[in-house]
Amino acid sequence: MKKQVTEETKKILLDGGFEYEVKLMREAIAMYMERNLDLYLSAFLLHLRNLYEFFYGSKKDYYAHAGHYIKSWESRTATKEIKRWNTQINNFLSHLSYARVLEVYDYYPVTMLYIHYRGLVIDFLGELPEEYMTQKLKDLLESLKYEVEINKNMEKKEMRCVECKRIIDTKKDKWVGLTGDYWHTECIREEVRKEGLKQEVSDNSK
Ligand SMILES: [Zn+2]
Repeated sequence: MKKQVTEETKKILLDGGFEYEVKLMREAIAMYMERNLDLYLSAFLLHLRNLYEFFYGSKKDYYAHAGHYIKSWESRTATKEIKRWNTQINNFLSHLSYARVLEVYDYYPVTMLYIHYRGLVIDFLGELPEEYMTQKLKDLLESLKYEVEINKNMEKKEMRCVECKRIIDTKKDKWVGLTGDYWHTECIREEVRKEGLKQEVSDNSK
């Protein structure tokens, strides 16, 4: 028999489990930017998937959901794009699915995904009723907003695709960024087919 979820349970979960998910997602992407290891990518994606469940998942009672805290978040749905990447995480990381053989694996647009989930966390914490807002969560919100400001300054610089040299439009293009170099996902995929760049990318990041 499952134990009862109370207001206190919900409060502790946000300050504990939720904050931990966001923290680990950030640590993993920071490490991945430094060293292009699958280990860091896997950690990043797994924590991202937990946040997907929290923000967009089916509202099973025993799984925490943003809608349990803020009514209007019950009806939020992921875009087709975000759903698609979550499906890939399910098939290629969380489960040993035959999809790994039968479906095509695409390069994750890690930076775009991170920015998306970071935005969700900022919006959610910004709207969170005061009674849930612990010091730890206040600090987290502060730190995320600060990070956005820093990124804005960086974005003023042109980001050119290493492969095709076109300027990357961060709002429109799907892109990946590794250690200050940026690729369109189409460009990097093309290169992976040629089997050259994957090695080069990991060499670059050392
Ligand atoms: Zn390109």
